[in-house]
Formats: sequence, C-alpha cells, structure tokens
Amino acid sequence: MKYDYLVVGAGLYGAVFAHEAERTGKSVLVIDKRPNIAGNVYTEPVEGIQVHKYGAHIFHTNNRKVWEYVNQFAEFNRFTNSPVANYNGELYSLPFNMYTFNKMWGVTTPEEAAAKIEEQRKDAGIVEPKNLEEQAISLVGRDIYEKLIKGYTEKQWGRPCNQLPSFIIKRLPVRLTFDNNYFNALFQGIPIGGYTNMVANMLEGIEVRLNEDYLNAKDKWDALAEKVVYTGAIDAYFDYSLGYLEYRSVRFENEILDMPNFQGNAAVNYTDAETPWTRIIEHKWFEFGKDANGDDLPKTVISKEYSSEWKPGDEPYYPVNDEKNGKLYEDYRKLADKESNVIFGGRLGEYKYYDMDAVIASALDMCEGELN
Ligand code: UDP
Repeated sequence: MKYDYLVVGAGLYGAVFAHEAERTGKSVLVIDKRPNIAGNVYTEPVEGIQVHKYGAHIFHTNNRKVWEYVNQFAEFNRFTNSPVANYNGELYSLPFNMYTFNKMWGVTTPEEAAAKIEEQRKDAGIVEPKNLEEQAISLVGRDIYEKLIKGYTEKQWGRPCNQLPSFIIKRLPVRLTFDNNYFNALFQGIPIGGYTNMVANMLEGIEVRLNEDYLNAKDKWDALAEKVVYTGAIDAYFDYSLGYLEYRSVRFENEILDMPNFQGNAAVNYTDAETPWTRIIEHKWFEFGKDANGDDLPKTVISKEYSSEWKPGDEPYYPVNDEKNGKLYEDYRKLADKESNVIFGGRLGEYKYYDMDAVIASALDMCEGELN
C-alpha cells in the first residue's frame, strides 16, 4: 500500500494537514517519534488537572476562519490570559497597561502615563530602535524595561537584549487602558478537556504510528508515500549539513502541591535576573471555573520553566530568529525547495516563532494549494 501522504509529526500543523487530506479523500499516514500525539500542545491529566506538558498554550486569534476551524474539534472555555510579573517580590500587571503604569510610577491617567514613557524615551535618545532593548525602551520607557523586560528576556533567550531582534517584544501589547488581557485577540480560550483531545479529534479515522523516528529510517518511510509533509526541524532533515540553527529549549520542573491554590493565577513571570526560572504555571487556573477554596480540587500542579540553549538531543522550542540564523535558514530553505516531494511546515519546519493560530492558518493555506 502506498499512501498519498506521509505526515511526519502529529502536532498542530501535521494534524491539520492530515485532517484535510483525509477529508478530501487522500490516504494519509501520520508518524511521530514521541509516544503521544499533539506535539508541544500535548496536555495530560494529573490529579484531575490538564497539565500543559510542553509549556503553557493559550489559544488566541483574530482569524475567524481559524477560530471556527478549531471549534469543530473542541469546545473552548473562556480563559483570558492575564499573567502577573513578579520582580523581586513586587507584583505588576501584564501586559503593559494602566495598572502596570500606576504601580510603577503612581500615575493615574493615560496622559500622565504617556508623558512618563515619552520622558524616558527622550532621555534614552533613541530615534530608530535597532534591537529589542531600544525597541522596549521606546515602547514603555526605561523603568519597565529594567524591571519587567530585561531580566525575563535575557533568561528566556540567553542573549543580551541589545543583540535580540525587536520583533519579539512587539508581541506584547502596550495600552493606555485598564486592561490586563494579554492578547489583542477577538477570540481566546483553552479547549475543554485539553489539547490532546482536540488533536485526537482532528486525527480521527487516520492511521497514526507513534514512537517512530522518521529520520532514523528515512528511506523506508519515503518509500511508503507519494509525498511527505515534514514538520520536524529543517536543519535536522538535512543532517545539519550547513550547520546548526539555534533554538531555545525549555525544561519543566513539575510539582504536585498539597494545597488548593499556590499562586492564584495561571502564569506568574519572574522578571528579575536572579530567579533561575522564567515563569511558574499553575495549570488548574487554565481550566476556567475551578474553585479556589479547593472544595473540588484540594491539590494543585505547578511547572517551573527553565530556559536553556538547545543542544543535540534536546527538544527545540523557540527558533532564535535573528539575522545570523535567518541567513542559515534561507540556505536550508534553498535545499528544501529542491526536495520536490517534501513539504516543510510548522514552527520547526519553517523555523518561525509561530503562534498556534498562525500555524493552523499556514497549514490551511498550504492545503488549499496542495489538495484542491
Ligand atoms: N516578555 C518580557 N516580560 C514578560 C513577558 C514577556 O519581557 O514578563 C518579552 C520577552 O522578550 C519574551 C517576549 O516578550 O520573549 C514574548 O513573550 P510571550 O509571552 O509572547 O512568549 P511565549 O509565551 O511565546 O513564551
């Protein structure tokens, strides 16, 4: 039996493609080297709580088509992300908004906040921001940069802020309103029952083989299908022949605590440079409606997140989309273009700091060209 498509990787990109291929009458085989589907959005229940095993994932989008698409496979709760920043014990609201500015400077009106930012921006003498540090100071001033951005960013990326691209910080909204909603998104939530169920629904009726490492037996797998959709790391596909692309990896220390409520919020970011973790996730608060006094769930599960430079054998999480890696990626991209029977997609296949909704949009776009 020869399949029309072999999909390598059962994460979001692979699952969307597989679903669409199956729906349009193609034969599909999905393989994944992990023992489970769902890639890095994988969730598993611990003590009755859906734990985001590879880091917190909050679905948010302005794309109605994508929102309707995912709602076919899961019902979403009404979770709204409002992380708290902890800077050496001082707590601030995120994203940067009037609550943050009030706590930082005592200002009470948007006009005062804007004047304070403008004053700090002028003092820094930045005309055209050239890196993340300059971009951050231009957006929110030096105080917020020093207390809420610098330490966190340097821990997360392992590089000084003046050597990081400014687009990373533009992900965060800055608002002169009292609004702690982290995302500027029309639609937001978390699938009730977890992301793994959502992806399982996408893959319903499709053959999936787990614990199978494509790159270990590439020829064997390639012989099984007309075409391959590859969602692993693009440099790994070419056996790193042009050199390593840089990624950040993340390690999680999970703890089950005998208390109903550890930090009162799903995400607390530790924005000082000294605390070794970047953030602590308390998973039960993603499941909107859980009771804080512990009547329904006396325990809680937390994950401390530690960021590190990726090395062979680690899981890659974040592509380091700076100039140097951008150039190397372009060279890999040229090699990829010559692989006429292989489609490269997803965060690792395209070496791009994609959010979930963008991954789905990109997979759906590709399906349109490929399957129609
Ligand atoms: N960031 C920050 N302080 C925070 C949260 C985020 O400086 O408390 C910056 C940091 O540079 C980070 C970027 O904003 O890399 C993007 O953060 P986001 O929360 O979008 O990252 P993700 O959830 O994808 O890890």
